[in-house]
Amino acid sequence: MKITRVETFAVPPRWLFCRIETDDGAVGWGEPVVEGRADTVRTAVHELAGQFLIGADPRRIEDHWQLMTKGSFYRGGPVLSSAVAGLDQALWDIAGKTLGAPVHQLLGGPVRDRARAYCWVGGDEPAAVRDQVAAQVEAGFTAVKMNGSGRMNRLPNVAELSEVAARAQAAREVLGPGRDFAVDFHGRFSAAGAVRAVAALEPYAPMFVEEPVLPEYTHLLGRVTASTTLPIATGERLFNRTDSLPALQAGAAVLQPDLSHAGGISECRRIASLAETFDAAIAPHCPLGPLALAASLQLAFCTPNFLIQEQSIGIHYNTGAELLDYIADREVFRFHDGHLLRPTGPGLGVEIDEKAVRKADGSAKSWHNPVWRHPDGSFAEW
Ligand SMILES: [Mg+2]
Repeated sequence: MKITRVETFAVPPRWLFCRIETDDGAVGWGEPVVEGRADTVRTAVHELAGQFLIGADPRRIEDHWQLMTKGSFYRGGPVLSSAVAGLDQALWDIAGKTLGAPVHQLLGGPVRDRARAYCWVGGDEPAAVRDQVAAQVEAGFTAVKMNGSGRMNRLPNVAELSEVAARAQAAREVLGPGRDFAVDFHGRFSAAGAVRAVAALEPYAPMFVEEPVLPEYTHLLGRVTASTTLPIATGERLFNRTDSLPALQAGAAVLQPDLSHAGGISECRRIASLAETFDAAIAPHCPLGPLALAASLQLAFCTPNFLIQEQSIGIHYNTGAELLDYIADREVFRFHDGHLLRPTGPGLGVEIDEKAVRKADGSAKSWHNPVWRHPDGSFAEW
């Protein structure tokens, strides 16, 4: 069995899919993308495929992973790690389809029957949180996530801190004590500001507070974790085990590796194991498309320290296309009381609507995150 072709498809709203084909007709799909850098990752995918995959046996997944991540002198970072991630997903998809088993079965079998998921409320500049949370409770979700703030001073003032607290209070009032919300800070505060903002959230007991500091300030994360009783989460911008270790050592309670950024199923499984040795959970980041979510679910079902899954159905980024648009059988992503059921199909467990993907290829408007500025005109974290 040899890999004969690797194709990529840039599809709305902002996703990139890859398709690996073999000489005996097996096909595997993956989602190698960095939000806002789809074209750059696309180039990396084809470079890696040409150098390491074409002509090779797709079943040597770990060997391919080693070569793709270490076979070039310069390593790591979002672009290369995301290119590897999508290709790794597609190789696991082929392995599962060839053996007639879902990937989580190949990784030891299921440890749970359903995976809890949360959805986003509030957009980039959260307002009207109360109504949106109520709508998700009505839809059956047991957890939501929202941004902690809009654009924020690095050192928040009293009014900004009150706003952070007021939104959390509104969410808690709607959710009651038996449901959860998480708050994402997106590194919009400085570390000193984050300590104060996390303290403002304490009375409302969010499930976790995410990215209180930017990943480049992970050496300051311990200051935040030591200051609060709230669980601190981070990891969507960490790309492998060695990136993740300092966050765990700083006391992160929840790691959020992204199956399409952090080296795919192979590496995210190892990140989960690493987290387990710190008694930390994983809540995989996934504001992306159907293959990223499918890969996340495969990990969720074989990972004991899985906490909850992010997913992008209805998210504010999805304009022009939705996650379900590219799936032939949508049942696999149907929510049951805010949970996704164990996928039983082979490989990643989803059937891609290849016609829809080919038709959509190239029609994506290039997506970039907003660039924010402070009132004085200087750069502000988004
Ligand atoms: Mg986040």
